[in-house]
Amino acid sequence: MSKILVTGGAGYVGSHTVYALIEKGYEVVVFDNLSMGHTTAVHPQAQFVQGDLLNPADLQQLFQAHSFQGIFHFASHTMVGESTEKPWLYLRDNAVASSNLLEAAIQHGVDRFILSSTSNLFDRPERIPISEKEAVVPGSPYGESKAIIERQLHWMNQLYGLRYCCLRYFNASGAHASGQIGEDHTPETHLIPLVLQVALGQRPHITIFGDDYPTPDGSCIRDYVHVNDLALAHLLAFEALAERPVLAYNLGNGAGYSVKEVIATAEEVTGQKITAVVGPRRMGDPAELVADSQAITTELGWQPQFSSLTNIVQTAWNWHRTHPQGYGGE
Ligand code: UDP
Repeated sequence: MSKILVTGGAGYVGSHTVYALIEKGYEVVVFDNLSMGHTTAVHPQAQFVQGDLLNPADLQQLFQAHSFQGIFHFASHTMVGESTEKPWLYLRDNAVASSNLLEAAIQHGVDRFILSSTSNLFDRPERIPISEKEAVVPGSPYGESKAIIERQLHWMNQLYGLRYCCLRYFNASGAHASGQIGEDHTPETHLIPLVLQVALGQRPHITIFGDDYPTPDGSCIRDYVHVNDLALAHLLAFEALAERPVLAYNLGNGAGYSVKEVIATAEEVTGQKITAVVGPRRMGDPAELVADSQAITTELGWQPQFSSLTNIVQTAWNWHRTHPQGYGGE
């Protein structure tokens, strides 16, 4: 059985991908420092190792104890806003963490690597929807840190033949159908969980960050893609690397929804009135970000199955309703 290392497997997209890997029969080791992750998010059949990518000794121990066929790398600081206030968490720590990981991976002969990357690589798209042909122009130190890791991977491929795939997600959202795992960030900054916190009575209103954008209803448009669809894309990419050594795909459902549409869908799903207040624009927010995912659809047969806005909000609601405190501060 193939053994896969999942860094950040106690986090949001990582934990959902671990569930998908285990459902497909892979043996999984989760490596996470629990700075953002939650032990209860780790699938009970995965082996959990607490450790830090910034500590090479933790990695040596890990790679001595296990032989991995592949690495799925999620562990990272992931907040655009934070990255503008604390750039070195991103430009240094994210980059050094992946350097340490790649150095150990090459030393121990790991064959395939999947990177959790981001749509924040494309700050000045010439065309919407955004395809892989778009120029990489990171929109923040966060996006820049992922661009740096993509370049590290390029050189690991050139020099050592590492096979790799970069998956650039648009707006990861929704929760596992089992209701056992979902989104729990501290602080929470993402639209859908915040809207659902209003439905739960945990906050008085949602602020719409600007309604004077050049979009049909004036609010920003984003491409929400279900976290289980992202998880399946990782599995397909891992299998495809056996045939093709270098891959990069943009992952969205191809349909953009406005902030106001998200709020209206949440009202339908929850049956609650969601009070919305229009506030100023958030710095750095482009009016519209939608992915062109034709390449992964054509080349790997990926088809989003869970990414209707209603299903995204419904599965997120199942999670938040049954876990109003997320993983309980753990
Ligand atoms: N947004 C909003 N109010 C909030 C949080 C987010 O209007 O309290 C908007 C934000 O401006 C963006 C969209 O919702 O247009 C999605 O934001 P999120 O932070 O979830 O993801 P991002 O697109 O920034 O990665």
